[in-house]
Amino acid sequence: MQNIIVQNVNSINHELCAQRRDFHRHPEQGWLEFRTASHVAEKLSQMGFTVQLGQEVVRDGARMGVPDEQTLKAALERARAQGAIERWLPALAGGFTGVVGILDTHRPGPIQAFRFDLDALPIQESKQSDHRPSSEKFASINEGSMHACGHDGHATIGLGLAELLTRFSSELRGRIKLIFQPAEEGVRGARSMVEAGVVDDVDYLIASHLGLGHPEGKVICGADGFLATSKLDARFMGKAAHAGGQPEAGRNALLAAAHSAIGLHSIASHSEGISRINVGQLNAGSGRNVIADSALLLLETRGATTTVNSYMESRAREVIEGAARMQDVDVSIDCVGSAEECASSPLLVEHIASCLASYPGIKHLVKHDTTPAGSEDATSLMARVITHGGQATYMIFGTHLAAGHHHPCFDFDESVLPLAVGSLTHIALTISASA
Ligand SMILES: [Zn+2]
Repeated sequence: MQNIIVQNVNSINHELCAQRRDFHRHPEQGWLEFRTASHVAEKLSQMGFTVQLGQEVVRDGARMGVPDEQTLKAALERARAQGAIERWLPALAGGFTGVVGILDTHRPGPIQAFRFDLDALPIQESKQSDHRPSSEKFASINEGSMHACGHDGHATIGLGLAELLTRFSSELRGRIKLIFQPAEEGVRGARSMVEAGVVDDVDYLIASHLGLGHPEGKVICGADGFLATSKLDARFMGKAAHAGGQPEAGRNALLAAAHSAIGLHSIASHSEGISRINVGQLNAGSGRNVIADSALLLLETRGATTTVNSYMESRAREVIEGAARMQDVDVSIDCVGSAEECASSPLLVEHIASCLASYPGIKHLVKHDTTPAGSEDATSLMARVITHGGQATYMIFGTHLAAGHHHPCFDFDESVLPLAVGSLTHIALTISASA
């Protein structure tokens, strides 16, 4: 079976690279993936998948960190100008840029889901001649946006998997859901798909990422090192006054924010696991001789477990509110992103490991990996599946990187695309056969 899969993947290798380069050239940041999502929907539909998109799969009130109206509109127009597929745009408009493709075999069996993310980063891509996307003419044409994390590859792997599954559909059972999620960066998007019920009926969920520091040929069946996290924006509102003439009339938002920054970095760590806190940005005030009437502070907390992160987040809120009271200013705190901690299901990891044990091209197969690897909001989807009695895991497909993730020179070896497509196809067929 493996060899037939490999033959089939090899026959679409050229299309996989072309698709990845098309996505790479047209990067769209979170909630703005209009062109990308419309192409995904079009291709799934052409392959015979039932397509759900927009508010059917993205719950409005549960989206985090959505850009303002003007940004959403401009991105939609840019997508149109860059060849978005018009018939899908009405459903995606306003930033409801999630897509789910369903393949129903009409035979009894499990519901398997595979999750891929679509969004790019606010990074200006390198124009250096030794940066391959530049030299081979597929670098970003969208100033200030770049696929610097490999999500162009993920969306491509999802479409490649769709193609292979249709070729092998007579050997599948149950239903397969391919979930294309917006706004993974900043951990903003998964919750809205969880709240829309996208994974409520799922028995097996497999999320995956390429690279993440692992070499070509290494595949991890269950990555367990993701930290729970919360991303908070604190807005301080004080009162301006002449700093020389009447300082007592002012209420100083800058000082409240500055005290917050120091206090936040002084929160005690937790005995139950590692924690992190970072104030990454602080903007305040309007001029040298004015008591600052506004400040904006961006911070994040992380924890080895959801409990540790909740502790960090609630202490952070208390510190910010306390500092605001100290300066008699008002403060509002918005949560603009969050993810849980979620360990992969041991049985599913075992199943995948035995399935891929002799898969061609995999040189080093690892069952569990607990290296802390930042955060990932696929954990919210995984946690929902597990809560409902299903199993979930997070896989990593190693690949050679030209530079680290989120770097302007990021690029990956495209040979990981067929390897991931073939592996996931093999997993889907194996789970079907064992059901
Ligand atoms: Zn990523």
